[in-house]
Amino acid sequence: MYNYDKCYINGQWQSVTNGQEIDVIQPSTEKVIGKITLANEADVNLAVQAAKDAFVRFSQTSKASRIVLLEKIIKVYKNKMPLMARHISDEMGAPMNLAKGAQAGSGLAHLEQALAALVKSPDDEKIGNSLLFHEPVGVCALITPWNWPINQIACKVGPAIAAGCTMVLKPSEIAPLSGYLFAQILDEAGVPAGVFNMINGDGLNVGSPLSSHADIDMVSFTGSTRAGVAVAKAAADTVKRVSQELGGKSANIILDDVDLETAIVDGVQACMHNTGQSCNAPTRMLIPESLYEQAVKIAAKAADDIKVGDLEDESTFIGPVISQAQFDKIQGLIQVAIDEGAKLISGGLGKPKGLEQGYYVKPTVFANVDNKMTIAQEEVFGPVLVLIPYKNEQEAIYIANDSLYGLSGYVASKDTKRALDVAKNIRTGMVHINYAWTDAAAPFGGYKQSGNGREWGEFGLEEFQEIKAVML
Ligand code: NAD
Repeated sequence: MYNYDKCYINGQWQSVTNGQEIDVIQPSTEKVIGKITLANEADVNLAVQAAKDAFVRFSQTSKASRIVLLEKIIKVYKNKMPLMARHISDEMGAPMNLAKGAQAGSGLAHLEQALAALVKSPDDEKIGNSLLFHEPVGVCALITPWNWPINQIACKVGPAIAAGCTMVLKPSEIAPLSGYLFAQILDEAGVPAGVFNMINGDGLNVGSPLSSHADIDMVSFTGSTRAGVAVAKAAADTVKRVSQELGGKSANIILDDVDLETAIVDGVQACMHNTGQSCNAPTRMLIPESLYEQAVKIAAKAADDIKVGDLEDESTFIGPVISQAQFDKIQGLIQVAIDEGAKLISGGLGKPKGLEQGYYVKPTVFANVDNKMTIAQEEVFGPVLVLIPYKNEQEAIYIANDSLYGLSGYVASKDTKRALDVAKNIRTGMVHINYAWTDAAAPFGGYKQSGNGREWGEFGLEEFQEIKAVML
């Protein structure tokens, strides 16, 4: 049992003020594996005050001292990686292979990128007759989701510390274990009291008061578009900076020169990876009409071959989805797709055979999908792929852009130049060519309703900085 019932304020583990205790449910077993206590506005005020007080000194620290601090954090994080992987797997159902690899690994990658960006950052720059100084933006609220829990925490905390900001983190209340361990890591690494504070809580009682708090200068939010809009509205009255990393419904354009088997199988796996719970997952596969029939057969087999289940088994590709609520939402969207006339070619309603306990969903693929259908427009956040035929490249680009979202795009082709030409026409913050792996040094973020701002690496550091021009 994880008894993670405290909050971390001003360098101390403190009891929550009149907090409500809630269970942490393990998605693979539906069993209670821990308890956290939800904080409320009184704790928000304490944490913000601690961060505000600490900002006075921390904002004046030298770049060299923050480099040393980040190096210490990285050292402790590395030692705790196996434990971190276990926390992530327990809280959100990632197979251990994924938890040890990309999930826990992304936390390390972002800390290392923040360090590299800080090392490279100029002390000042000259422009015209002025000197430009990059200064910390101030006291930051960091609000994160459950799907890549430590990825999102580290890609905010790392650059915020690098910039000289102080902060209050509110991890997802649904997957709070890795955030708690992360706070223990920062404590062990000797982060000065008040620089980093962590409180557990829900959106209404902690996320919202943080977003509207007069002493918060910036909110860095990752989560649903619904909550991102609420955060921006709550932040508007105090004119704080708001960075939003929100939902996605990314198109995967398969061009007609590909090795079809490889492109389709890789596309199915990329969509289902992390049980389809990635904001940038390629969930709409766009296929040339001439290859459609063949592609449908390959996709159905690829989905049927995906191994779902035992999280400890090295060959398991996907685990359960995060919660009963998410399971129900996905089932509802599968039903809507069937009702709207999409053709189910793999998976479907109900749990996979032998996996009645746990929030397991069948890897599901729909063919004959029109981009106007609900299943092509709404973010499912589960292992559900749609296959949409297209006549020519122009139509493929039109369909790819016919979405409220603009987070990521994918293009598969043997011809890199051709793929790049298509990539330039997709209105998204990122494009992956031939499933190139996500790059922790590259800016991460979206167009349209996928958000505002860019995280990760050098761009992530800039998000946490103000620019001051001093005219000489
Ligand atoms: P969510 O929006 O329900 O919750 C995210 C966080 O916001 C949680 O900590 C939650 O407590 C908090 N929150 C909820 N309502 C709030 C409010 N009114 N004010 C302030 N905080 C509030 O999202 P989720 O279900 O945890 O995560 C899934 C969503 O996150 C998906 O839509 C996914 O696409 C998105 N996501 C986006 C990215 C990205 O970088 N673009 C990355 C991961 C996840």
